[in-house]
Amino acid sequence: MAFTLAIHAGAGAMQPEKEILPAIHVGLRVALHAGHAVLADGGSALDSVTAAVVALEDNPLFNAGRGSVLTTEGTAEMEAAVMEGAGRRTGAVGGITGPRNPVLGARMVMERSEHVLMVGEGAMRFLRDHDLPMETADYFVTERRQAVLRAELARRVGGLKPARDNAAKHGTVGAVACDRAGNLAAATSTGGMTAKLPGRVSDSPLIGAGTFADNATCAVSATGHGEFFIRWVVAYDVAARMQYLGETLERAAENVVAGLVQFGGSGGLVAVDRDGHMALPFNSPAMYRGTIGADSTARTAIWREAMA
Ligand code: ASP
Repeated sequence: MAFTLAIHAGAGAMQPEKEILPAIHVGLRVALHAGHAVLADGGSALDSVTAAVVALEDNPLFNAGRGSVLTTEGTAEMEAAVMEGAGRRTGAVGGITGPRNPVLGARMVMERSEHVLMVGEGAMRFLRDHDLPMETADYFVTERRQAVLRAELARRVGGLKPARDNAAKHGTVGAVACDRAGNLAAATSTGGMTAKLPGRVSDSPLIGAGTFADNATCAVSATGHGEFFIRWVVAYDVAARMQYLGETLERAAENVVAGLVQFGGSGGLVAVDRDGHMALPFNSPAMYRGTIGADSTARTAIWREAMA
């Protein structure tokens, strides 16, 4: 069976400084090849999306793991989820600082606890007890994110209008895959949104909102303004449209993302099904994204240009 992997690293206005553009494509490609190596080797979709998201978390350009955006207090509070399409096994973490790779924390919750979602101090204790590699708090905080936080706090004090869809303020990374056995999986990881209140939780670790996988329909990882993605239960809505309306993956994904616009919910998602279809719709000006399949050709894009 053919295998596929699609990734994203955030949606928004995306006006990255020219100098970092090549690094963004390289970062996406590194993640695609990490996930592809697993699939090409006959590995599982779950291991593939985990490997891809670990690579994105380790890259400080993207808003997850190192380089996460910061809370009003200048701290990085991270969240992540993983889900398997076979049997809907899933695990997620929220409100944590410490694990180098929050997505591995989500997997640990799935594989080593009886729970689905763990947050805060209790989650940290569980992850430490299971020897998940940790970093000190300053590992996650980059100067680039501190500058964006300062600008956002100054904007609030000055009462200025928010920059429309300012990608520097959010991001999120995620991956979806279908392996040779036809199993689907999704993984999502984020630092959330700049100047969020400590304790705020996004759509990313919430199953059905930012992350979902079911072999009967599709695997989805979303990125965008989390409050909308939670309220419109975005990831599950794609699966539900396929299941109950008989829509194709592409149509269901497109309909859900387009439908958010009227409510002001900006963002996008990546989705795959078991028949080798992929969908990467977004309603914002841009979404960092990429795909790779059995032909081993990594394709990446930022704006509306064709993937290359
Ligand atoms: N969904 C994330 C959040 O609301 C941010 C993003 O994907 O851009 O925190």
